[in-house]
Amino acid sequence: MKKIVIATKNKGKAKEFKTFFRKYNLKALSLLDLPEDIPDVAETGSTFEENAAIKAETISALLQQTVISDDSGLMVDALDGEPGIYSARYAGEDKNDGNNMKKLLKKLDQKTEAPRTARFVCVLAISTPGKSTVFYKGYCEGSIAEKPAGTYGFGYDPIFIPKGYSKTMAELAPDEKNQISHRRHAFDQLEEWAKSFQKEG
Ligand code: IMP
Repeated sequence: MKKIVIATKNKGKAKEFKTFFRKYNLKALSLLDLPEDIPDVAETGSTFEENAAIKAETISALLQQTVISDDSGLMVDALDGEPGIYSARYAGEDKNDGNNMKKLLKKLDQKTEAPRTARFVCVLAISTPGKSTVFYKGYCEGSIAEKPAGTYGFGYDPIFIPKGYSKTMAELAPDEKNQISHRRHAFDQLEEWAKSFQKEG
């Protein structure tokens, strides 16, 4: 079975990628599945694309094989796209899901008249030695709730109400979230790439 490496040590993320690639007869290996100890790659870019590319290209060069990575986050219109690439570390030293959401709600509450529209973004980058990196991007549109609700999911899910819904992402069962998420929409675009990669010699 042809292999592709996923640039992540996150088991949940790895599982999503593995399930997707299995459909195309591709075996996806996460960094936890490799015998080598791959050091963490610092996300020093200023866009989702740059950060995804840095991870995929660094590890692809190291292993001399095709590597896929992703970078994702939440963008709030009234906060000029914050927290964006800083989503995981928005609350600084005290970063965790609770503190990140608290900071966001506080900043947004100061913008009393502003719309609460926002979107989750997911960028996938695929790097193959000797080839240009390719990118796929998926969005999930929605708005920011007044206060957190729900226990499913992670990150900003308790304060994100997907467009067309009246509950937060953290109140949707995981299967339901996976139908509409930014990652799902990015994965959907990967189909053609996965098919042609499978056919390549
Ligand atoms: P990463 O791309 O896995 O590093 O994710 C960056 C950060 O964006 C996460 O730590 C979360 O704060 C946020 N994020 C990304 N995807 C989601 C999601 O599906 N739900 C909630 N928060 C998310």
